[in-house]
Amino acid sequence: MSALLDESAMSSQPLEYPLTTAGRRVIWMYAVVIGLFHVVAPLAFLPGLFSWVGLVLLLPGNYVFGSLGINLAYHRILTHRSVVVPRWLEHLFTIFGVCSLQGSPLRWVTTHRIHHQFSDEREDPHSPLVTFFWSHVQWVFITNNVLERLSTYERYSRDLIDDPFQRWLHRGYHWVWVYVAHAVAFAGLCLGIAWLTTETAAEMWTTSTSLFLWLVVVRTVYVWHITWLVNSAAHYWGYRNYKTHDVSRNNWVVAVLTNGEGWHNNHHASPRAAAHGHRWWEIDLTYWTIVALKWVGLAWKVVPVKVPKVLLPDGQVSKSNAVTVSVEDESDKGTSQLREPHGQQVVS
Ligand SMILES: [Zn+2]
Ligand SMILES: [Zn+2]
Repeated sequence: MSALLDESAMSSQPLEYPLTTAGRRVIWMYAVVIGLFHVVAPLAFLPGLFSWVGLVLLLPGNYVFGSLGINLAYHRILTHRSVVVPRWLEHLFTIFGVCSLQGSPLRWVTTHRIHHQFSDEREDPHSPLVTFFWSHVQWVFITNNVLERLSTYERYSRDLIDDPFQRWLHRGYHWVWVYVAHAVAFAGLCLGIAWLTTETAAEMWTTSTSLFLWLVVVRTVYVWHITWLVNSAAHYWGYRNYKTHDVSRNNWVVAVLTNGEGWHNNHHASPRAAAHGHRWWEIDLTYWTIVALKWVGLAWKVVPVKVPKVLLPDGQVSKSNAVTVSVEDESDKGTSQLREPHGQQVVS
């Protein structure tokens, strides 16, 4: 693996599992649910259940639940406060994220802020320097004692705790029930479509089952994996625009799949920036969505890209940037700020 990491990256020495995951105690609820989805999802490829329509609908499904829900709400709005949208819209997009079954926003945001503070150090909840499997999915279903402490949430995510809606989602596994409710709604929709478009009861059953598998189960698993690829592949393969402390990479495959989250080295260099694509060809559909929302007056305080000078490879910013990259002159201050919680530091 070390050959994949250039010398500008931090040490690529293998890491131990985080101390706070000692014993590797399995969170059975998460392990069983992840396992079950992976057993059921492949059924969608069986003859009779495979659907080209379902396959194509993965794209808008990913846009709504993955890009608006996870990228925009969980990541750029809630974790990094890269942009402000009306509270009702923030909550709506948050619900889309909840329907991706990636945990409560409070837990997701807290985990991700810890990731930014300790990227690819032992305290990082999911560095691939432990193992690729760990960074991709294993960390999800292994107990990390840091995430079991109320003090952690108070330290990292006070802003979310202060929002009654976020507290409600987190408490009593309400986020799980929101996911179940959305799945039931989709089941009804699929049944309705099948009822209108088929003639026999058998056809109706097959069609509705197929649609449900594609629109809910396969889509959930698909969004899981492309999100997890940001933690695994985008800290493993790709190129680096900036000399960040971590081994983050810009991975175009992950960027295309996730509508922009794969420009991950850019993101680690300027965590608060709303735009993750910094060069004209680093396409970032999630950022375009933010721009569109701003045009129609539904987004403001869009945080610009600002990179500490010390992270630039040659002290220069390329002329080919698609977004304006400001340089943070106070080099030492800039990088030390990057290590603080919230990833909200490199901002004017
Ligand atoms: Zn990262
Ligand atoms: Zn981030």
